[in-house]
Amino acid sequence: MPWLHISPDSDFSLQNLPFGIFHTGDNRPRAGMAIGGHIIDLEAAAEAGLFGKRRFFKKIFGQATLNDFIALGKPVTNGIRRKVRNWLELPATPENALQIIADRESATMLMPIRVPNYTDFYSSIEHATNVGKMFRPDNPLLPNWRWMPIGYHGRASSIVVSGTPIRRPSGQILAPGGEPDTPIYAPSRQLDFELEMAFVIGKESTLGEPITVENAEEYIFGLVLFNDWSARDIQRWEYVPLGPFLGKNFGSSMAPWIVPLEALKPYRVKGPKQKPAPLDYLKTKGAKNLDIELAVTLTSTKLNVPTLLCQSNTKYLYWSMVQQLAHHTVNGCNVQVGDLMASGTISGPTPESLGSMLEITLGGRNPITLNDGSTRAFLQDGDVVTMRGSAGEGEGRVGFGEVIGEVLVLK
Ligand code: MN
Repeated sequence: MPWLHISPDSDFSLQNLPFGIFHTGDNRPRAGMAIGGHIIDLEAAAEAGLFGKRRFFKKIFGQATLNDFIALGKPVTNGIRRKVRNWLELPATPENALQIIADRESATMLMPIRVPNYTDFYSSIEHATNVGKMFRPDNPLLPNWRWMPIGYHGRASSIVVSGTPIRRPSGQILAPGGEPDTPIYAPSRQLDFELEMAFVIGKESTLGEPITVENAEEYIFGLVLFNDWSARDIQRWEYVPLGPFLGKNFGSSMAPWIVPLEALKPYRVKGPKQKPAPLDYLKTKGAKNLDIELAVTLTSTKLNVPTLLCQSNTKYLYWSMVQQLAHHTVNGCNVQVGDLMASGTISGPTPESLGSMLEITLGGRNPITLNDGSTRAFLQDGDVVTMRGSAGEGEGRVGFGEVIGEVLVLK
């Protein structure tokens, strides 16, 4: 860019241009686009006439969520990215630059979308196998797993933006040493994170009409880093027969920036070979997975030195996003703009690539030592979990920013 400096290691290159909602201490939420250490104030850019239809776009971008903008469809949302890109590539500093560009460091990021529905999948074969081994040693992968992307309907109301503290949930747990199958009500002792990537639905579908794998990408607006906090002790006692409930629905954290699917085009890769071959409605051709490197760090209250807990990659996912969406709607279930569909914990094949404490510490049996010398089986109060993700390097780098959450210290 001729007139705006972007650090080469920034998550937010010209290739990326993700969308979010921010304010600058004035409590006036509005839409923005990240570029390097800056935010393009899209409401101000609309006001300056950058997009034409001044009043229309000023209203669209002057809202507290991106839902109405996303619902305009990809020709419009991609058109806005193109116009901002052209503006950033002008040979000299434009006159209106000061009004349009905000400093990212001093901005407060808000929930970027209103989430009508949240679905969580279970698409990593490594994660499903690791967890299955703990709960069912002889039979880790249930017979249906290789035939369909397993998922459940999660809770949308408790999804929060990065930076929001998470309160340790209390619930029914089986206390060690107690009578078998006699629960107590207590704060969870096995609070965990789950490293996930979620996608945001950008187009409404009709009840009764499935979305096909071929058309699924039309319905995917963009991707967002996601931490699906979990309470393993609550989960273990409640999950049979209907699956996750209070062990999951007390909070999930999303990064503030939604990366448009288009920005990730250069990072498409083929997924793992699927055996048995999926049924016809789940058959895909070509590169349907994404090569996005992921990392999780944990910082304790004791020392401000983060410990790297996990390095994984979305390319390991057995079931792709288009397969998840096709399966989700094959019975006629409809989707709405802003719906979030999360991948499930993204673990890889190596010991360094395990995406939850449950897997890293083998259900708490092998605690790990942090850089400050303390040990963890699961998360303690005051622990800060940070997830990052990025594809590519330098000018083509597409990063996801961070999703951070601190486990509240209750007094
Ligand atoms: Mn999950």
